Amino acid sequence: MKKISRRDFVSGTLKATALTAVGSSMILDSKTGFAKDRFGAYQFAQMPLPYTYGALEPSIDAMTMEIHYTKHHAAYVKNVNDAIAAENIAYVTEKEFFANASKLSAKARNNSGGVWNHNFFWQVMKPNGGGAPSGNVAEAINGAFGSFEKFKEQFTQAAMTRFGSGWAWVVSEGGKLKIGSTPNQDNPMMDTADLKGVPVLGLDVWEHAYYLKYQNKRNEYVANWWKVVNWDDVAKRL
Ligand code: MN
Repeated sequence: MKKISRRDFVSGTLKATALTAVGSSMILDSKTGFAKDRFGAYQFAQMPLPYTYGALEPSIDAMTMEIHYTKHHAAYVKNVNDAIAAENIAYVTEKEFFANASKLSAKARNNSGGVWNHNFFWQVMKPNGGGAPSGNVAEAINGAFGSFEKFKEQFTQAAMTRFGSGWAWVVSEGGKLKIGSTPNQDNPMMDTADLKGVPVLGLDVWEHAYYLKYQNKRNEYVANWWKVVNWDDVAKRL
């Protein structure tokens, strides 16, 4: 790792609005929200929400979405960038960052996952989504799980059995799809994760993601979430 100067300039200042408004001062690396400021320092950024807070109603209510995006997700962004500055962390891609998760402080690890996972989560949902996938996604799912129904069952099981806070995932590893889950804000790109691979679909099963509307009924949240899955986005990730 190399030392990065001028950290003070960027510490904790990244917000979706700033990213959108300033634009030219930040260079987004891929679609993940890992970004470089004009001094060459890499930080995590909050991607703009690709729809309005209420756009995924009734599956996900507007208040949950607003709090999730403006409070939870925004806090992960501030906290990871504080950690990057304080600890002089200088990984230049999110892939490198997560591949070294075992060397990160708890603050850097938890909050970096928090930023990335939510940037990803917003993208894999859309209004009027859902239904059954087609094309390469359908082929990959049928090849790995036998049928879309079996795939849904297995993914739902992963989401339901993740004890406490965490994420359910579909990952691609060597061209093969796998289903699993991670605790807290860990993700399958972290060297610490039991489930490894490139995420192609993910579901936030923290209580903050569903409690206002569904209370303890995680099963109803998961069942309704299928109606807003953005299969077009999943297709691009295969
Ligand atoms: Mn969340």
